[in-house]
Amino acid sequence: MKDNRVHIVGAGPAGLVAAINLARCGYDVVIHEQNSDAGGRFNGDFQGLENWSTKGDVLEFLKNIGVDINFRCDPYSKTHYFGPDLQEITVKTSRPLFYLVERGKSESSLDRGLKRQALALGVKILWNDKLEIFPSSGRIIVGTGPKAADAIARGIVFKTSHPDFSAGFLDNRIAPKAYAYLLVNDRKATFATCLFQNFPKEKIFFQRALESMRSVIDIDIRDPKEFGGYVNFFLNPPPVKNDGILYVGENAGFQDALWGFGLRYAMLSGYLAAISIERGQSYPGLCKQYITPLLETSLANRWLFAHLGNFGYRLMLNRMSRVKDAVGVLRRFYQPSVPKALLFRIARQWYKSRLLDKHCMHGECDCVWCRHGKTAHMDRAECLIN
Ligand SMILES: Cc1cc2nc3c(=O)[nH]c(=O)nc-3n(C[C@H](O)[C@H](O)[C@H](O)COP(=O)(O)OP(=O)(O)OC[C@H]3O[C@@H](n4cnc5c(N)ncnc54)[C@H](O)[C@@H]3O)c2cc1C
Repeated sequence: MKDNRVHIVGAGPAGLVAAINLARCGYDVVIHEQNSDAGGRFNGDFQGLENWSTKGDVLEFLKNIGVDINFRCDPYSKTHYFGPDLQEITVKTSRPLFYLVERGKSESSLDRGLKRQALALGVKILWNDKLEIFPSSGRIIVGTGPKAADAIARGIVFKTSHPDFSAGFLDNRIAPKAYAYLLVNDRKATFATCLFQNFPKEKIFFQRALESMRSVIDIDIRDPKEFGGYVNFFLNPPPVKNDGILYVGENAGFQDALWGFGLRYAMLSGYLAAISIERGQSYPGLCKQYITPLLETSLANRWLFAHLGNFGYRLMLNRMSRVKDAVGVLRRFYQPSVPKALLFRIARQWYKSRLLDKHCMHGECDCVWCRHGKTAHMDRAECLIN
């Protein structure tokens, strides 16, 4: 007899997309979520659903994986980039470069939107249910998010009168091996710096990034609230262990190693886990076909990005400013190719995930990079921006 019960651990995008698709196929789905509601990992910050890694638009992708748009999802076709020395280029694209989404507990967030879709399909969600021991019956999907900090973000969300806007800052002095970003939507904004190294200096880099941003963008910052977060990515993940459990999203290491745009991988892996259960297809096989090549390319790109430094940023911005359509440039950059496959072999040797680097796992502190699962320290927001 077909066992119809599926337990999903974690109500993040990966777990919720798996739940939505399984419920549609008639499965009896129960989600176990450690927080009291969806979106607890985030603080109202804006993120981007990148729109360059596939030929089709990301809205088509969402439709294909069974997700309706019942959350804030606004297209951005013009982005300002500031390179080292703060020289500016404006990139306009034929289709949106990304769609802005909100994360966190607001009703317009992606997390709450996905939750509503799951509930409407009859998914049962058990809140405040931190699962350490898995149920003994039914299929199990684990989507509990990152396990370690391979890259971190430190930032603020705030109110502003500035019109909708997006900007990226590429400079190792404010965001080592990464970038800082400003996203403004409907009088709310997110500004953050991301770091792939030098985590202990996160506050210093945030201050520098904020000063740089304010020197080129005239924006009022009202009622700032701090947020921080981390992502992990590791390769050759075992998306199915011997126990038959399917691992999805960041828990399985599915994350864009170049810039941390992991949302699409999270949702795609949730979808693939669902169809592997429904159609009896191999989940590792589906991941190998649809996810692994892109992850490997992203690691090759990370190696390039990290090694070229500010020189590489200048090169990239120069190229983006000269082409008619930057989406095409980025898509080619993200696509697997023979040179990228060769580079991946080098990158794999060079790169070690912090999953293996336990020294940053200390206990009580306010570092973004080792306060696993702790909520952001809102009360210190003022001292961060002054
Ligand atoms: C600051 C920041 C900015 C980002 N910006 C972008 C961006 O612009 N674009 C993009 O594409 N990606 C971005 N990302 C990455 C993106 O947020 C992640 O890739 C995505 O959230 C991963 O989804 P997930 O479902 O795998 O995990 P999560 O979103 O982490 O969800 C995991 C869920 O599991 C729950 N959980 C954990 N352990 C247990 C347990 N034992 N029992 C029960 N429940 C549990 C958690 O509470 C959580 O609700 C960003 C990440 C950060 C930190």
